[in-house]
Amino acid sequence: MVKIKVDEGACVGCGSCVEDCPNDVYELDSEHGKTVVVNEKDCMACLSCHEICPSQALEHNDIPVAKRLYIDRKVNQVINKIL
Ligand code: SF4
Ligand code: SF4
Repeated sequence: MVKIKVDEGACVGCGSCVEDCPNDVYELDSEHGKTVVVNEKDCMACLSCHEICPSQALEHNDIPVAKRLYIDRKVNQVINKIL
């Protein structure tokens, strides 16, 4: 399973990852102004949140190779439709 680590010292609480994640993996902890992982098991390792975070506060580990291949195939299908 994908393991997600949020660097609380780096997170500025912008909420970009919460809005960006298609699988509702994050929530914003309004009390502390930081994002928290609430649904790690649904992470499909697209790494979109990783790209969008302005503080590089997100770290993803243990990404299964098969999962990435699946994502890449889906992306390729979408790209092929556009081209
Ligand atoms: S995108 Fe980065 S800085 Fe913004 S809330 Fe998420 S982890 Fe924090
Ligand atoms: S890698 Fe994708 S699915 Fe996983 S938490 Fe980030 S945006 Fe959500």
